[in-house]
Amino acid sequence: MTTDCWVNETLYDAWGQRFLVQRELARVRSAFQDIMIFESATHGRVMLLDGVVQITERDEFVYQEMLTHVPLLAHGAARRVLIIGAGDGGVLRRVLMHRDVERAVMVEIDGEVIRLCREHLPAIGGDAWEDPRAQVIVGDGIDYVRRGAPASFDVIVVDSTDPIGVGEVLFTDAFYASAARLLAVGGLIVNQCGVPFMQSDELRQTSARRARHFPHVGAYLAAVPTYVGGFMTLGFAAKRPGLDAVPRVTIEARARAAGILGRTRYWTPALHEAAFWLPPYIAEQLPHA
Ligand code: SAM
Repeated sequence: MTTDCWVNETLYDAWGQRFLVQRELARVRSAFQDIMIFESATHGRVMLLDGVVQITERDEFVYQEMLTHVPLLAHGAARRVLIIGAGDGGVLRRVLMHRDVERAVMVEIDGEVIRLCREHLPAIGGDAWEDPRAQVIVGDGIDYVRRGAPASFDVIVVDSTDPIGVGEVLFTDAFYASAARLLAVGGLIVNQCGVPFMQSDELRQTSARRARHFPHVGAYLAAVPTYVGGFMTLGFAAKRPGLDAVPRVTIEARARAAGILGRTRYWTPALHEAAFWLPPYIAEQLPHA
């Protein structure tokens, strides 16, 4: 008789989700974190970093589409995009779907995450790794933005782990000050800000920090099934007003021109507009609430 093998997510001490494991594919202790990839019974292949769900084949489209298409289409003329983290390649693939993007630089601290995701989760990044517009750098995002040339990017997407461990530097004043310098006029930065129902400090504290370096700070929502606890928030900080309120017809026209329309499974122009309407328990975590 085989005994079932379960993996419990360890994000919260007193509550969490578990996955029935069909087959472990990789278990590596890199220089930065514990990396586990396994075949689950319900969500396809799953990757945990230090016991926290990062991505599942079944629901990755929700998060990657919202973290990528919202800022690029809100900007409206993004040509140069910086991606920090995102070692699975999912954000890079979505950025390169935008036909007018000329350059996508991705800075991931852990080369082992890239290696293992390319081997065991190949569909997530697809052929983005070979795209001539892509430059993949293995390094610390904070070092890259500190050295970066002023006004060298239009959008920065921070797809990092939570602000603990190696990810912590990506939520600091030093990082946001450098990001503001790197962004051209009209630029914006987005980053994952956790699930406020369980991690309200993350949204509140990082939004207050972003507000010290950007005049327009907000957040928008995505319902990611495996980021348990209700809505996932994506932080948003811009140099110009109104990027969080671009009319649906404009977003739709931009998506059509970019070659995105009809190629998504979660993002739509209507959902883009709706994602910025926050319930009070989340809106009250933002500055000026
Ligand atoms: N999209 C999924 C999500 O947001 O949960 C996956 C996120 S992706 C796997 C998170 C990545 O951020 C990890 O691969 C981690 O190595 C990387 N990361 C953490 N701190 C970093 C830093 N300081 N510089 C660059 N990458 C970093």
